[in-house]
Amino acid sequence: MEHYEVLIVGGGNAGISLAARLLRDGARDVAVVESESVHRYRPLLNYVGGGEATMASLEKPAASVMPDGCKWIKDRVVSVDPGGPSVLTLDGRRIDCSTLIICPGLEEDWDATPGLAESYAAGWAGSTFVVESAPRVWPALRDLTEGRVVFTVPPEPAPCGATALKPLFMACDHWRRAGVLQDLDVHLVLPGPSPLGVPKADRLLEQKLASYGVQVLREAEVAGLGSRGITVTTPEGDQELDDLAYAHVVPRYRAPRWIAEGDLAGATEAGLVDVDSHTLRHRRHPAVWSLGDVADLGTKPSGGALRKQVAVLTHNIAAADTAPLEHYDGYTVMPITVARHRLMLVEVDREGRPAPTVPFPDLVRPRRATWWADRYALPVTYFKRILRGKV
Ligand SMILES: Cc1cc2nc3c(=O)[nH]c(=O)nc-3n(C[C@H](O)[C@H](O)[C@H](O)COP(=O)(O)OP(=O)(O)OC[C@H]3O[C@@H](n4cnc5c(N)ncnc54)[C@H](O)[C@@H]3O)c2cc1C
Repeated sequence: MEHYEVLIVGGGNAGISLAARLLRDGARDVAVVESESVHRYRPLLNYVGGGEATMASLEKPAASVMPDGCKWIKDRVVSVDPGGPSVLTLDGRRIDCSTLIICPGLEEDWDATPGLAESYAAGWAGSTFVVESAPRVWPALRDLTEGRVVFTVPPEPAPCGATALKPLFMACDHWRRAGVLQDLDVHLVLPGPSPLGVPKADRLLEQKLASYGVQVLREAEVAGLGSRGITVTTPEGDQELDDLAYAHVVPRYRAPRWIAEGDLAGATEAGLVDVDSHTLRHRRHPAVWSLGDVADLGTKPSGGALRKQVAVLTHNIAAADTAPLEHYDGYTVMPITVARHRLMLVEVDREGRPAPTVPFPDLVRPRRATWWADRYALPVTYFKRILRGKV
């Protein structure tokens, strides 16, 4: 019988940084189930879509990020017995463990938006959020000189959904410099009434959107795509946006089916893992914990949020039933480029209150230095420190 002390499902940002941190803290028997051979630093996908990064700059072999001393099980989990706990894999292995960590991220829900997959395949729609599509976004946007373009921000849950604004602002800045912005009819579809739901940042973003002449559809949702057009549902009724030169439409997201349709899920429509949002422990199965995009933590998912989640979970797994558990305050980040080389960093807690990591300077104010940190310094920190459990 295959058995590990700690079994982690998913070797993404969450799984690898947690495994590394546990091993640094002295855990001996840690395994990660991950089927992919390539590990991606996904925040750079938006810079690929803005012509500021290549796919090669964000991809590394999965073997190179697996922490020393960690057992890599190159397989896919297809079902879980949370009572055991144990998992079943695609290769038919049953793996037992004492502590089970669920962090396989979110899945694109192509069925939720009729016509989306077909429009991606036809090439007039795409997005930085879909790995295969990201390298095609900048070539599609770069050379536009006229016509109608639509960008969307996905509804929650989504992996740092607010950063879907990055390709919009980088493209608008490029079009303005190229002298063609006035000939482009740019639309933005927002799921909420404002871009982020954070008043100070929203005031700045609304000014930027107005200065680029972007028409904003609020509390809106893409109902479907077809024939180079999009139907958007708004509180005022359906709107048709036809004759599109390009549509940057991010898919909706949900938890993988083996979670959503099993005993791990709670009541959310997306089927997220039902954990105590403070301790990250499953509400019904005490040996099961979850973090990252797939966990129902009452906050907007992001890689930046994992810095705090990993610290809390490392403590709580060790403390389990012998010491008080630490609490995660819902901290999350939304880094938004408002021009090609300027970025605002919005950090909030679960209630949406400002939660800046440094009191000074004010990182919500867009700066070149913050852009440089997001584009160049953070990827290095990610591969050298975060994935090695040092942050
Ligand atoms: C375009 C884009 C831009 C982003 N920008 C930012 C940003 O600027 N700042 C920020 O903080 N965050 C950003 N994020 C969000 C960030 O990337 C995610 O929040 C983070 O990757 C979540 O980590 P995770 O480990 O929970 O999930 P993932 O990174 O999705 O990793 C999940 C892993 O689990 C594996 N897996 C899935 N199913 C199974 C299975 N059945 N069995 C075994 N393994 C499985 C997958 O192969 C994957 O490796 C961005 C995301 C995207 C897509």
